[in-house]
Amino acid sequence: MSDNDGKKTLGVRGGPRSGQVKQSFSHGRTKNVVVETKRKRVVVPKPGAGKGGSGAAHLGDPSKRPAGISDAEMERRLKALQAAKANEAAEAQRREDEEKRRDEERKRRRAEVEAKEREEREREERAKAKAEEEERKKREAEEAKKRAAAAPAKKAEAAAPAAPAEPKTADAPRGGGKPTPRKTDRERDNRDDRQNRNKNRGDNRRSGKLTVNQALSGGDGRHRSVAAMKRKQERMRQKAMGGNEQREKVVRDVQVPETIVVSELANRMAERVADVVKSLMNMGMMVTQNQSLDADTAELIVEEFGHKVVRVSDADVEDVIDTVDDSAEDLEPRPPVITIMGHVDHGKTSLLDAIRNAKVVSGEAGGITQHIGAYQVKTDSGAVLSFLDTPGHAAFTSMRARGAQVTDIVVLVVAADDSVMPQTIEAINHAKAADVPMIVAINKCDKPEADPMKVRTELLQHEVIVEAMSGEVQDVEVSAHTGQGLDELLESIALQSEILELKANPKRAASGAVIEAQLDVGRGPVATVLVQNGTLRKGDIFVVGEQWGKVRALVDDKGDRVDEAGPSVPVEVLGLNGTPEAGDVLNVVETEAQAREIAEYREQAAKDKRAAAGAATTLDQLMAKAKEDQNVAELPVLVKADVQGSAEAIVQAMEKIGNDEVRVRVLHTGVGAITESDIGLAEASGAPVMGFNVRANAPARNAANQKGVEIRYYSVIYDLVDDVKAAASGLLSAEIREHFIGYAEIKEVFKVTGVGKVAGCIVTEGVARRSAGVRLLRDNVVIHEGTLKTLKRFKDEVKEVQSGQECGMAFENYDDIRAGDVIEIFEREEVERSLD
Ligand code: GDP
Repeated sequence: MSDNDGKKTLGVRGGPRSGQVKQSFSHGRTKNVVVETKRKRVVVPKPGAGKGGSGAAHLGDPSKRPAGISDAEMERRLKALQAAKANEAAEAQRREDEEKRRDEERKRRRAEVEAKEREEREREERAKAKAEEEERKKREAEEAKKRAAAAPAKKAEAAAPAAPAEPKTADAPRGGGKPTPRKTDRERDNRDDRQNRNKNRGDNRRSGKLTVNQALSGGDGRHRSVAAMKRKQERMRQKAMGGNEQREKVVRDVQVPETIVVSELANRMAERVADVVKSLMNMGMMVTQNQSLDADTAELIVEEFGHKVVRVSDADVEDVIDTVDDSAEDLEPRPPVITIMGHVDHGKTSLLDAIRNAKVVSGEAGGITQHIGAYQVKTDSGAVLSFLDTPGHAAFTSMRARGAQVTDIVVLVVAADDSVMPQTIEAINHAKAADVPMIVAINKCDKPEADPMKVRTELLQHEVIVEAMSGEVQDVEVSAHTGQGLDELLESIALQSEILELKANPKRAASGAVIEAQLDVGRGPVATVLVQNGTLRKGDIFVVGEQWGKVRALVDDKGDRVDEAGPSVPVEVLGLNGTPEAGDVLNVVETEAQAREIAEYREQAAKDKRAAAGAATTLDQLMAKAKEDQNVAELPVLVKADVQGSAEAIVQAMEKIGNDEVRVRVLHTGVGAITESDIGLAEASGAPVMGFNVRANAPARNAANQKGVEIRYYSVIYDLVDDVKAAASGLLSAEIREHFIGYAEIKEVFKVTGVGKVAGCIVTEGVARRSAGVRLLRDNVVIHEGTLKTLKRFKDEVKEVQSGQECGMAFENYDDIRAGDVIEIFEREEVERSLD
């Protein structure tokens, strides 16, 4: 800038002017000094060009200006710059003011706090002094009495027992004495005295002499306040007296959950957070008040502060959920809840619609129904039935896996023209696993090719003996299209429900299960809840899975708002704080705090569980759990095998395992790859899946990993049966007998003379190792097991090929390889077997 102006500038900001500052010294001396403010060189268009001539200089000097900018443009920019600068200055000023204000505020607060502390201390002192004084007086009175008795000559003294106390008061610890006006006066005098002394000291300082006191106080002119001195003395006095007597310690029962935040711990002990943090530091833990401690650490702290520890489990928060059993007289009959299952296209949806429409038209005046995931109908005989609107066993098992056993009766739909199909069998197994009675609806009987008898006989093979075959399972011939047999079906359901004697207590706090839930744009999170016990009312506070809420509104299956919903009634619930999942259980609790606490606990627990996923449920754990649960433990298993023959052999062998204590229960057997549906059933029933010469397909593998379902692969029936036997007797060795080290996919097959067929592969996972065992998988079924003859990378024989690389493999003594086959590479580990 000075270049621009052609001269050096002195002065304060804004313009080229010199400044003078008057310096004051002690004894009234002053001195004027010239201040030169050096200013930064400013380059346009940086703000700070100033308001003065420096910017104008640019304006006037086109050479300093970026090319292509006109004078007018330049002026505009300058103006903008100046405006920005002014703003900045104003902002700085504002900040300064703000700072000053805050400073003052801080000072004021500090002074207030100090004053308060002082007052408190004085009060305490006075109280203590009073107590001491009284004590002493008593003592002295006694002494005086004694003396009076011993020397009657000294009557005068004995007559005034308080008098001799006076001189001693001075000996009492600082200011000791009873809070008489006289004492207060003296104290005030003392204080004045000291203040005077202080003042004098201040004067001395001004005189330039250094006193010992001054030197000790740091010499920086900062002096301890009277309050600080008093505090110090008080501290020392307390220390001398043993400190802890100052207040009676209240021993508290402190509830310590599995984890607790430091500040909350302090709160529960009614101690200061700073003290707790300090004592944690003494233990070598640097934590802040917002960090969590585990229960053990918290316990140490609680003990250190002299309180009593009451350990509570996090899960205890769930205890507020009312789980008291209903007494028999409170129980009232409730409608059954029905799920329709069956093979795809056998008419589940059609049947549900047919039932609903028939009943809505003939009965309720409401007209069009609302889809909320479940609906209720009334049979001609007056029985009310609740149907779940999501057919199929996927929903059924996923609900069961989440802990909601909602269904009372399963209606198995079998198309009369198609008879029993794979999903029919799955549905049968699911119903059996859940221990839910079945009613068979033989559908599509309107079709000319319908053959209901065939359905009945085929069901026999799956241990479903219908009434027509003199069994116990009811069977009804229906047609969703013509409506034939629908009423009969509904009456059968009503009859079955009577046999089940379904009851609930409508008078208690509601519990139920979520059937559907979604986030509605207008209404927020909405869940259809099937009330299972009690009555859900508007205004009820509840927890549902990891969510909680307060019932804002209830909407029934006809779209009407209702004030309450009793047992087996499906209702849409509004007023949730988040969207729960189907199968989540809803419980009404008393307070919002409880609801929130439980929801938070569950969320954390779910997080922990996800974190621990991979720690799959092992056979051992399953068995241990089964034993805990009941006297006769049942080990549920799912078996998938490569051929029907081996599946049967395995099931037969399994059925032989077991004694008075344990029993193996084969939930489902099948032929072919392990599917997602198998994993679903396994999860719901807490069973492992045994694959005999078959593998899980990719979705099933993922599902198993996610849900923590154990899949075990075998290629020798003896091994499989043996493991189950070992698990059943609690002797299963947790060690892995065989583990996969890699997978390779066959891309092409070549014929090489002298060697035979060679598979051109790519290693898709892990490694391929020459020495390892190999299996050939076609469609997830093992078709060969053996060893490798060669493992080649390009032309060379190698020991190992890594994932992502191509290689050539040939099997020892085996030639039937095709492109698309998968080679599984595994290693065996010798495991000590504990069974003989
Ligand atoms: P879902 O997959 O089990 O739910 O079966 P759907 O209800 O979707 O029915 C599959 C097909 O079967 C549809 O084309 C229906 O129209 C037909 N269908 C269902 N019930 C009957 C019936 O009772 N008679 C006849 N003829 N067709 C039916």
